[in-house]
Amino acid sequence: MSETALREEICRLSASLFERGLTHGATGNISARTEDGGLLVSPTGTSFGRLDPARLSRFNAAGHHVDGDAPTKEMPLHSAFYETRSTAGAVVHLHSCHSVALSMLDDTDPDNFLPALTPYAVMQLGKIQLLPFFVPGDPAMGAAVRGLAGKRAAVMLANHGPVVSGKSVEAACNAIEELEATAKLALMLRGLPHQGLTPDHITEVVRKFDIQWDD
Ligand code: ZN
Repeated sequence: MSETALREEICRLSASLFERGLTHGATGNISARTEDGGLLVSPTGTSFGRLDPARLSRFNAAGHHVDGDAPTKEMPLHSAFYETRSTAGAVVHLHSCHSVALSMLDDTDPDNFLPALTPYAVMQLGKIQLLPFFVPGDPAMGAAVRGLAGKRAAVMLANHGPVVSGKSVEAACNAIEELEATAKLALMLRGLPHQGLTPDHITEVVRKFDIQWDD
């Protein structure tokens, strides 16, 4: 995809997330790999509803900021995904309400944050690691993602929001929407007798779609 098209796609999909209330105010940030190995990143303090394609932060392949506005303060978080997951073409972070609510419940499994309710969550996200609370912008978040050694495509920052990597901007946005929708289902079902996916269902999905799940 040309850089012009990629800039437009980042802004179009970010606006779509914002318009549907998946993040609000000036929260959330997004980045994507360019064809030359650099990065386009949403600038600090910007709203997903109003990103300007011409003002995205541009990094070259050596990781130097070369153009556009100053990048999001969560840059270490984004960099950690690109450094540890060679397949990552985009990273998106939202402050989406249902997943944040789920991160605050005291019976959540940190190694498998999202209950396995739908096959699409398993297929698009794999297991999601719940990371502890960090002060926004703390570079320790990046260190925590690096500590996972590329084994997780998605993490949940407790009391804060999800961060999802994907092969493309579209894949990362679809996956983070699936995460939020599944978190919403989990909250809707809370306290009700229900049938999630069985371990056999999960195994079937994981095998058929070649998902990284067990480690
Ligand atoms: Zn945030």
